[in-house]
Amino acid sequence: MTTGTMTSSTPFQPRIASRMAKASPSATLKLTSKAKEMKAKGLPVISFGAGEPDFDTPEAVKAEAVKCLQQGYTKYTPTSGIPELREAVCRKFAEDQGLKYSVENVVISCGAKHSLYNLFQVLCEPGDEVVLPAPYWVSYPDMVYLAGGTPVVVETTQREGFRLTADRLRKAITPRTRIVVVNSPSNPTGGILEEKDLRAIADIVVEKNLICISDEIYEYYVYGGRKHVSIASFNEEIFKRTFVVNGTSKSYSMTGLRIGYLGGNAEVVKKIGILQDHSTSNPVSISQKMAVAALALPKNYREEVRSTFERRSKLMYDLVAQAKGFEPFAPQGAFYVFCDISGTGLGSEQLCDRLLEEVNVAAIPGKSFGSDKHIRFSFATGEKDIQEGIQRVIDWSRKRSS
Ligand SMILES: *Cc1c(COP(=O)(O)O)cnc(C)c1O
Repeated sequence: MTTGTMTSSTPFQPRIASRMAKASPSATLKLTSKAKEMKAKGLPVISFGAGEPDFDTPEAVKAEAVKCLQQGYTKYTPTSGIPELREAVCRKFAEDQGLKYSVENVVISCGAKHSLYNLFQVLCEPGDEVVLPAPYWVSYPDMVYLAGGTPVVVETTQREGFRLTADRLRKAITPRTRIVVVNSPSNPTGGILEEKDLRAIADIVVEKNLICISDEIYEYYVYGGRKHVSIASFNEEIFKRTFVVNGTSKSYSMTGLRIGYLGGNAEVVKKIGILQDHSTSNPVSISQKMAVAALALPKNYREEVRSTFERRSKLMYDLVAQAKGFEPFAPQGAFYVFCDISGTGLGSEQLCDRLLEEVNVAAIPGKSFGSDKHIRFSFATGEKDIQEGIQRVIDWSRKRSS
């Protein structure tokens, strides 16, 4: 073909596969990038959009990357992860939650998001129903759609602490139900499922012979003297049926390094390995070594991070509570203040647009988490920004209603 034939201006639109029909762009990423743009233009934007810790990746972890580069550790690794990291993950599960996995129960992926995506790909048939307690993390429904499954959203309420109760779960189960997703501590609500809630859910999962996917990425961010418990830890029956998903992004501020992992049934883990063989291949070699270094960090490192975040959680909650029409939920875990905004008379997108435009404060609309009457503020940011940013929101809310 000569370039001369390419002058025609007939538009060409490739057909998009139907599996993309229901998937939508991530609202979290959209809003944070708009805030970044405004900031780049010189506007005094304070962003509470962040879904990632603000502290630097630990020095020992960074040093490992330097060493890898110097030693030329830049080649393919086994697809499911280097044995050293899979073993370190097994030890982590055993030490933190008493979960006894062997290496063949563990697979390393390119972030916990990828671990979750892989699980739905391997487990879901068209028509399979996946129970998602709402408000839910943005990506779950889209991941289920992309796997051909059907998300079944179960509402929870702020008054009940956003807990998935046994009652609500039972009502959502049909003969097509395959999977129940739990995410405690929760993004976006900052809620935690207490041990008795988790036990009730576990009993139903076992009774109905379902699968549980437990997203425990915020396990170290728990407040008010609470302790993280894994649903997989109660008994052998629920252990067999659960996939515990975790990663280094939130715990060690390694979001860009993309290491996630899961523990669970060995057959499923093997299939995930095959899926990775033909899609991503191995997670980045250097990141895997960095994850080994992260998992080897002394435990007091976590406590420092946790107590800093607990202090911020209180600061932000107390401030948001002063804004007129805002009714925040006191965070029990994770790093978000989730806030009922019905009192403002605005929808969540409208409110977030106005806060960004009028006072240059970025928050995430709850609509993308399955609740249009909430917005999410992240406190993974410095105390000074929290003070100043939320004060702007308070002033804005009072001016509106005066
Ligand atoms: C951040 C997050 C993840 C995924 O993080 P990765 O960076 O992909 O490891 C998974 N679940 C929830 C609830 C999250 O907030």
